[in-house]
Amino acid sequence: MSSADCLFCKFVSGVVEPDVVGETEHSLAFRDINPQAPTHVLVVPKRHVANAGELAEVSPDNLQDVVLLARAVADDEGLGGDYRLVFNTGAGAGQSVFHAHLHLLGGRSMQWPPG
Ligand code: AMP
Ligand code: ZN
Repeated sequence: MSSADCLFCKFVSGVVEPDVVGETEHSLAFRDINPQAPTHVLVVPKRHVANAGELAEVSPDNLQDVVLLARAVADDEGLGGDYRLVFNTGAGAGQSVFHAHLHLLGGRSMQWPPG
C-alpha cells in the first residue's frame, strides 16, 4: 500500500528519484537532502507505514531488512562500525515525514544525549 501524498512512496515508485545508495527487494536507502553528518542516509521500507512500531507490527521481516540494509550501507561508507541509527516517531520527537525511515548517521563523533 502506498500513499499518493507521501514523498518517500514517490521515491520507492520512481516518480521522484532520490540519491540511492542501496536497495533490497523490500527496502530502499538514499541520502538525506539535509545531511546532519558526513554520512546521512535514510533507509525506508518500500511499503507505506507511518513509523517503526507500525512496521514491526505489520512486517517484522521488513524491519529486519531495513536495519541490515543500514548496516550494509554503513560498511560501504567505510564507517568502521561507528554510526548511529535513529527512528524519530511522532512530530514531538522530530518526525516530519510519516513514512517509516531509519536515519543512518556517521563520519563524525556523536554526542549523548541527542538534542
Ligand atoms: P524526520 O524528521 O525524522 O521525519 O526525517 C525526515 C528526513 O527526510 C529529514 O532528515 C529530511 O532532511 C529528509 N528529507 C526531506 N525531504 C527529502 C528529500 N527530498 N530527499 C531526501 N531527504 C529528504
Ligand atoms: Zn509512503
